[in-house]
Amino acid sequence: MTSNRLFGKKALVTGAGSGIGLAVAQRFAAEGAKVYFADINVDAAAKAAAEAGTDRAVPVRVDVSDETSVTEAFSLASKDEALDIVVANAGVQLFGQDAKVGDLDLEVWERTMAINQRGAFLTLKHAVRAMENRGGSIIVTGSPTAVVACGQTFTAYTSSKAGVHGLARVVAADYAAEGIRVNIVVPGYTETPLVQTIADDPESRAGLVNATMLGRAGTAADVEGIMVYLASDDSAYATGGIFTVDGGLTAL
Ligand code: NAD
Repeated sequence: MTSNRLFGKKALVTGAGSGIGLAVAQRFAAEGAKVYFADINVDAAAKAAAEAGTDRAVPVRVDVSDETSVTEAFSLASKDEALDIVVANAGVQLFGQDAKVGDLDLEVWERTMAINQRGAFLTLKHAVRAMENRGGSIIVTGSPTAVVACGQTFTAYTSSKAGVHGLARVVAADYAAEGIRVNIVVPGYTETPLVQTIADDPESRAGLVNATMLGRAGTAADVEGIMVYLASDDSAYATGGIFTVDGGLTAL
Protein backbone atom coordinates (compact mmCIF):
# COMPACT_ATOMS: atom_id res chain seq x y z
CA MET A 1 0.00 0.00 0.00
CA THR A 2 1.42 3.41 -0.92
CA SER A 3 0.47 6.87 0.35
CA ASN A 4 2.69 9.34 -1.52
CA ARG A 5 4.86 9.71 1.59
CA LEU A 6 7.89 10.76 -0.46
CA PHE A 7 6.15 13.18 -2.80
CA GLY A 8 8.53 15.93 -3.98
CA LYS A 9 11.66 14.20 -2.67
CA LYS A 10 14.67 13.10 -4.67
CA ALA A 11 16.47 9.83 -3.89
CA LEU A 12 19.43 7.77 -5.03
CA VAL A 13 19.54 4.06 -4.20
CA THR A 14 22.67 1.98 -4.87
CA GLY A 15 22.32 -1.67 -5.77
CA ALA A 16 18.91 -0.86 -7.28
CA GLY A 17 19.27 -3.44 -10.04
CA SER A 18 18.43 -6.40 -7.83
CA GLY A 19 16.97 -7.63 -4.55
CA ILE A 20 16.48 -5.19 -1.67
CA GLY A 21 17.69 -2.10 -3.56
CA LEU A 22 15.37 -2.83 -6.47
CA ALA A 23 12.35 -3.25 -4.19
CA VAL A 24 13.18 -0.12 -2.20
CA ALA A 25 13.86 2.07 -5.26
CA GLN A 26 10.59 0.97 -6.89
CA ARG A 27 8.69 1.60 -3.64
CA PHE A 28 10.25 5.08 -3.28
CA ALA A 29 9.08 5.86 -6.82
CA ALA A 30 5.60 4.55 -5.99
CA GLU A 31 5.61 6.82 -2.92
CA GLY A 32 6.08 9.85 -5.19
CA ALA A 33 9.87 10.37 -5.12
CA LYS A 34 12.13 10.94 -8.08
CA VAL A 35 14.55 8.02 -7.81
CA TYR A 36 17.95 7.33 -9.32
CA PHE A 37 18.33 3.56 -9.67
CA ALA A 38 22.13 3.24 -9.31
CA ASP A 39 23.91 -0.03 -10.02
CA ILE A 40 27.09 -1.38 -11.59
CA ASN A 41 24.76 -3.50 -13.73
CA VAL A 42 23.17 -0.62 -15.61
CA ASP A 43 20.97 -2.93 -17.71
CA ALA A 44 19.41 -4.33 -14.53
CA ALA A 45 18.98 -0.80 -13.17
CA ALA A 46 17.33 0.30 -16.42
CA LYS A 47 14.94 -2.68 -16.32
CA ALA A 48 14.06 -2.00 -12.67
CA ALA A 49 13.49 1.69 -13.39
CA ALA A 50 11.33 0.90 -16.43
CA GLU A 51 9.23 -1.50 -14.32
CA ALA A 52 8.53 1.37 -11.91
CA GLY A 53 6.38 2.80 -14.71
CA THR A 54 7.13 6.48 -14.13
CA ASP A 55 9.53 8.99 -15.66
CA ARG A 56 10.55 9.79 -12.07
CA ALA A 57 12.57 6.50 -12.11
CA VAL A 58 15.98 7.08 -13.71
CA PRO A 59 18.74 4.47 -14.12
CA VAL A 60 22.36 5.46 -13.55
CA ARG A 61 25.55 3.40 -13.69
CA VAL A 62 27.74 3.43 -10.62
CA ASP A 63 30.59 1.31 -9.34
CA VAL A 64 30.50 2.18 -5.64
CA SER A 65 34.10 1.03 -5.17
CA ASP A 66 35.39 3.63 -7.63
CA GLU A 67 35.40 7.30 -6.58
CA THR A 68 35.34 8.63 -10.15
CA SER A 69 32.23 6.59 -10.88
CA VAL A 70 30.53 7.62 -7.60
CA THR A 71 31.36 11.29 -8.30
CA GLU A 72 29.82 11.04 -11.78
CA ALA A 73 26.65 9.33 -10.52
CA PHE A 74 26.11 11.93 -7.79
CA SER A 75 26.80 14.88 -10.07
CA LEU A 76 24.20 13.53 -12.50
CA ALA A 77 21.65 12.93 -9.72
CA SER A 78 22.17 16.29 -8.01
CA LYS A 79 22.65 18.32 -11.21
CA ASP A 80 19.45 20.38 -10.95
CA GLU A 81 18.74 20.19 -7.23
CA ALA A 82 20.09 18.50 -4.12
CA LEU A 83 19.28 14.96 -3.06
CA ASP A 84 16.97 14.38 -0.07
CA ILE A 85 17.49 10.63 0.35
CA VAL A 86 20.44 8.30 -0.30
CA VAL A 87 20.39 4.57 0.36
CA ALA A 88 23.88 3.02 0.49
CA ASN A 89 22.78 -0.51 -0.23
CA ALA A 90 25.02 -2.08 -2.90
CA GLY A 91 26.94 -5.04 -1.54
CA VAL A 92 28.39 -8.46 -2.20
CA GLN A 93 28.82 -11.63 -0.21
CA LEU A 94 31.31 -13.95 -1.86
CA PHE A 95 29.89 -17.40 -1.17
CA GLY A 96 32.38 -20.21 -1.71
CA GLN A 97 35.28 -17.76 -1.31
CA ASP A 98 34.71 -15.93 1.96
CA ALA A 99 35.94 -18.27 4.68
CA LYS A 100 37.37 -18.77 8.16
CA VAL A 101 40.20 -16.29 8.69
CA GLY A 102 42.95 -18.93 8.39
CA ASP A 103 41.65 -19.98 4.97
CA LEU A 104 40.73 -16.57 3.59
CA ASP A 105 42.52 -15.25 0.48
CA LEU A 106 43.61 -11.64 0.70
CA GLU A 107 42.03 -10.98 -2.71
CA VAL A 108 38.59 -12.06 -1.42
CA TRP A 109 39.01 -9.84 1.66
CA GLU A 110 40.04 -6.86 -0.53
CA ARG A 111 37.19 -7.34 -3.02
CA THR A 112 34.59 -7.57 -0.28
CA MET A 113 35.99 -4.53 1.52
CA ALA A 114 36.23 -2.53 -1.73
CA ILE A 115 32.55 -2.93 -2.53
CA ASN A 116 30.92 -3.14 0.91
CA GLN A 117 33.07 -0.86 3.03
CA ARG A 118 34.86 1.52 0.63
CA GLY A 119 31.62 1.58 -1.39
CA ALA A 120 29.64 2.74 1.65
CA PHE A 121 32.34 5.29 2.51
CA LEU A 122 32.33 6.80 -0.99
CA THR A 123 28.53 6.79 -1.17
CA LEU A 124 28.20 8.60 2.17
CA LYS A 125 31.02 11.02 1.30
CA HIS A 126 29.21 12.14 -1.84
CA ALA A 127 25.76 11.92 -0.23
CA VAL A 128 26.60 14.49 2.46
CA ARG A 129 28.04 16.78 -0.20
CA ALA A 130 24.87 16.42 -2.29
CA MET A 131 22.79 17.33 0.79
CA GLU A 132 24.84 20.36 1.80
CA ASN A 133 22.81 23.34 3.10
CA ARG A 134 19.61 21.32 2.85
CA GLY A 135 19.82 18.23 5.05
CA GLY A 136 18.45 14.82 4.19
CA SER A 137 18.17 11.19 5.12
CA ILE A 138 20.89 8.61 4.50
CA ILE A 139 20.16 4.95 5.05
CA VAL A 140 22.79 2.21 4.96
CA THR A 141 22.00 -1.47 4.58
CA GLY A 142 23.79 -3.21 7.41
CA SER A 143 23.73 -6.83 8.44
CA PRO A 144 23.00 -9.06 11.44
CA THR A 145 26.58 -10.29 11.02
CA ALA A 146 27.72 -6.87 12.29
CA VAL A 147 25.76 -7.43 15.49
CA VAL A 148 25.84 -11.18 16.23
CA ALA A 149 27.99 -14.08 14.99
CA CYS A 150 25.11 -15.72 13.04
CA GLY A 151 26.95 -19.04 13.20
CA GLN A 152 28.64 -18.21 9.90
CA THR A 153 32.25 -18.06 8.80
CA PHE A 154 31.99 -15.09 6.45
CA THR A 155 35.04 -13.27 7.80
CA ALA A 156 35.33 -10.60 5.11
CA TYR A 157 31.59 -9.96 4.82
CA THR A 158 31.12 -9.74 8.60
CA SER A 159 34.09 -7.39 8.96
CA SER A 160 32.92 -5.19 6.09
CA LYS A 161 29.45 -4.83 7.57
CA ALA A 162 30.78 -4.05 11.05
CA GLY A 163 32.72 -1.23 9.37
CA VAL A 164 29.57 -0.02 7.65
CA HIS A 165 27.71 0.14 10.98
CA GLY A 166 30.56 2.18 12.51
CA LEU A 167 30.71 4.48 9.49
CA ALA A 168 26.97 5.20 9.71
CA ARG A 169 27.21 6.09 13.41
CA VAL A 170 30.10 8.51 13.01
CA VAL A 171 28.56 10.21 9.99
CA ALA A 172 25.28 10.54 11.92
CA ALA A 173 27.12 12.28 14.76
CA ASP A 174 29.22 14.51 12.49
CA TYR A 175 26.36 15.72 10.28
CA ALA A 176 23.39 15.96 12.68
CA ALA A 177 23.94 19.70 13.04
CA GLU A 178 23.62 20.02 9.26
CA GLY A 179 20.23 18.32 9.28
CA ILE A 180 21.50 15.08 7.80
CA ARG A 181 20.20 11.93 9.48
CA VAL A 182 21.91 8.55 9.04
CA ASN A 183 20.33 5.25 10.02
CA ILE A 184 21.15 1.59 9.57
CA VAL A 185 18.62 -0.96 8.33
CA VAL A 186 19.50 -4.53 9.21
CA PRO A 187 17.64 -7.07 7.10
CA GLY A 188 17.75 -10.67 8.30
CA TYR A 189 17.93 -13.63 5.93
CA THR A 190 16.21 -12.07 2.93
CA GLU A 191 15.74 -14.18 -0.19
CA THR A 192 17.41 -12.29 -3.02
CA PRO A 193 20.00 -13.33 -5.64
CA LEU A 194 22.73 -12.47 -3.07
CA VAL A 195 21.86 -15.48 -0.92
CA GLN A 196 20.78 -17.92 -3.65
CA THR A 197 23.46 -20.34 -2.42
CA ILE A 198 21.66 -20.59 0.93
CA ALA A 199 18.21 -20.83 -0.67
CA ASP A 200 19.47 -23.73 -2.80
CA ASP A 201 20.70 -25.69 0.24
CA PRO A 202 17.70 -26.98 2.24
CA GLU A 203 19.76 -27.54 5.40
CA SER A 204 21.32 -24.05 5.47
CA ARG A 205 18.00 -22.43 4.61
CA ALA A 206 16.12 -24.35 7.33
CA GLY A 207 18.81 -23.39 9.85
CA LEU A 208 18.29 -19.70 9.16
CA VAL A 209 14.50 -19.88 8.95
CA ASN A 210 14.34 -21.82 12.23
CA ALA A 211 16.56 -19.20 13.87
CA THR A 212 13.84 -16.57 13.37
CA MET A 213 10.86 -16.00 15.67
CA LEU A 214 8.50 -15.67 12.72
CA GLY A 215 9.62 -18.97 11.19
CA ARG A 216 10.07 -17.76 7.65
CA ALA A 217 12.63 -16.17 5.34
CA GLY A 218 12.35 -12.46 4.62
CA THR A 219 11.64 -11.01 1.19
CA ALA A 220 12.91 -7.77 -0.31
CA ALA A 221 9.38 -6.39 0.10
CA ASP A 222 9.70 -6.90 3.88
CA VAL A 223 12.44 -4.24 3.94
CA GLU A 224 10.58 -1.53 1.97
CA GLY A 225 8.39 -0.16 4.76
CA ILE A 226 11.18 0.69 7.20
CA MET A 227 13.13 2.33 4.36
CA VAL A 228 10.14 4.53 3.47
CA TYR A 229 9.75 5.49 7.15
CA LEU A 230 13.45 6.41 7.48
CA ALA A 231 13.42 8.29 4.17
CA SER A 232 10.34 10.29 5.13
CA ASP A 233 9.88 13.17 7.55
CA ASP A 234 8.01 10.80 9.90
CA SER A 235 11.45 9.73 11.16
CA ALA A 236 12.63 13.31 11.82
CA TYR A 237 13.90 12.40 15.33
CA ALA A 238 15.63 9.16 14.25
CA THR A 239 19.36 9.25 13.61
CA GLY A 240 22.27 6.96 14.40
CA GLY A 241 19.76 4.15 14.88
CA ILE A 242 19.74 0.48 13.99
CA PHE A 243 16.43 -0.72 12.56
CA THR A 244 16.20 -4.48 12.44
CA VAL A 245 13.88 -6.31 10.05
CA ASP A 246 14.90 -9.90 10.62
CA GLY A 247 11.87 -11.87 11.76
CA GLY A 248 13.33 -11.90 15.27
CA LEU A 249 16.62 -13.56 14.26
CA THR A 250 18.94 -11.42 16.35
CA ALA A 251 16.60 -11.22 19.35
CA LEU A 252 16.15 -14.98 19.73
P1 NAD B 1 21.57 -8.52 -4.57
O1 NAD B 1 22.75 -9.31 -4.99
O2 NAD B 1 20.21 -9.01 -4.95
O3 NAD B 1 21.73 -7.00 -5.06
C1 NAD B 1 22.94 -6.31 -4.91
C2 NAD B 1 23.06 -5.29 -6.04
O4 NAD B 1 24.28 -4.56 -5.82
C3 NAD B 1 23.16 -5.92 -7.42
O5 NAD B 1 22.22 -5.31 -8.30
C4 NAD B 1 24.59 -5.64 -7.86
O6 NAD B 1 24.74 -5.46 -9.26
C5 NAD B 1 24.89 -4.37 -7.07
N1 NAD B 1 26.32 -4.16 -6.93
C6 NAD B 1 27.29 -5.07 -6.64
N2 NAD B 1 28.49 -4.50 -6.67
C7 NAD B 1 28.31 -3.19 -6.97
C8 NAD B 1 29.17 -2.09 -7.15
N3 NAD B 1 30.51 -2.22 -7.04
N4 NAD B 1 28.64 -0.88 -7.44
C9 NAD B 1 27.29 -0.74 -7.58
N5 NAD B 1 26.42 -1.76 -7.45
C10 NAD B 1 26.93 -2.97 -7.15
O7 NAD B 1 21.70 -8.39 -2.98
P2 NAD B 1 20.67 -7.94 -1.83
O8 NAD B 1 20.36 -9.13 -1.02
O9 NAD B 1 19.57 -7.11 -2.37
O10 NAD B 1 21.66 -7.06 -0.97
C11 NAD B 1 21.53 -5.65 -0.81
C12 NAD B 1 22.24 -5.25 0.47
O11 NAD B 1 21.60 -5.89 1.57
C13 NAD B 1 23.71 -5.67 0.53
O12 NAD B 1 24.46 -4.63 1.13
C14 NAD B 1 23.69 -6.87 1.44
O13 NAD B 1 24.90 -7.06 2.11
C15 NAD B 1 22.58 -6.48 2.40
N6 NAD B 1 21.97 -7.59 3.12
C16 NAD B 1 21.36 -8.61 2.45
C17 NAD B 1 20.79 -9.64 3.19
C18 NAD B 1 20.13 -10.82 2.51
O14 NAD B 1 19.85 -11.83 3.20
N7 NAD B 1 19.82 -10.75 1.22
C19 NAD B 1 20.83 -9.61 4.59
C20 NAD B 1 21.45 -8.55 5.24
C21 NAD B 1 22.01 -7.54 4.48
